Amino acid sequence: MGRKGFVIAIDGPSGVGKTTVARLLSRRLNFRYVDTGAMYRAIAVAASEAGVDIDSDEELKSFCEGEEIYISKNNEIFLNGMEFTRKIRKPHVGPLASRVSRKKPVREFLVQIQRKLGEDGNVVMEGRDIGTVVFPDADVKIFLDAASTVRAGRRRRELEKTADMGAEMLEEVAREMAKRDRRDSTRAYSPLRKAEDAVYVDTGELPVDDVVDRLLEIVKQRRTGVK
Ligand code: C5P
Repeated sequence: MGRKGFVIAIDGPSGVGKTTVARLLSRRLNFRYVDTGAMYRAIAVAASEAGVDIDSDEELKSFCEGEEIYISKNNEIFLNGMEFTRKIRKPHVGPLASRVSRKKPVREFLVQIQRKLGEDGNVVMEGRDIGTVVFPDADVKIFLDAASTVRAGRRRRELEKTADMGAEMLEEVAREMAKRDRRDSTRAYSPLRKAEDAVYVDTGELPVDDVVDRLLEIVKQRRTGVK
């Protein structure tokens, strides 16, 4: 692939704290952090705003062909020059992104962009298929996981901070999250799964700083060739 530097792939289901961990790790290493979920979210929002049938491969393919996607070093995201950074964080967008991300034309479109972003190396890339499909030869692969009750609780706390929601709606969010993870794990193209050579880390048992320290240790060992 002709890569110049180090690539760290972080995968796992929603609510495991991937974003927090990946961001902190990238800061500690002075690497670029790439949130690939933001790309699927942005395509989902833009396509549905444009009236595209998001269950149609053909419509999504021609939609993607007309899109220029730009993601800044701070993961601000733009499609054809229009910013989507905040819009894509609304609660309904997760399930929408999951539906769009099942589609092969969308995956092909975004994977080639993600590979390009990783070419220069020194990157921490986070998603569902980074260690299995985007960078099967990543220098370090991490699979973050946690019990579903832990993940639902974490997602609820995040939403309580950002959205004004009642208890019933929060329950609904937990149900949606479980549904989304099932869909992400069982889809035909690039399902969420742990790469054989990924290190499995349970984030339900460790405070976030300990998870980051653990990952830093793994990175250090790989960089110095110590097993
Ligand atoms: O990580 P995040 O919740 O932002 O991702 C939104 C959705 O995008 C996921 O539920 C998944 O369906 C999809 N996704 C994916 N592959 C990635 C990253 C995200 O299919 N590499």
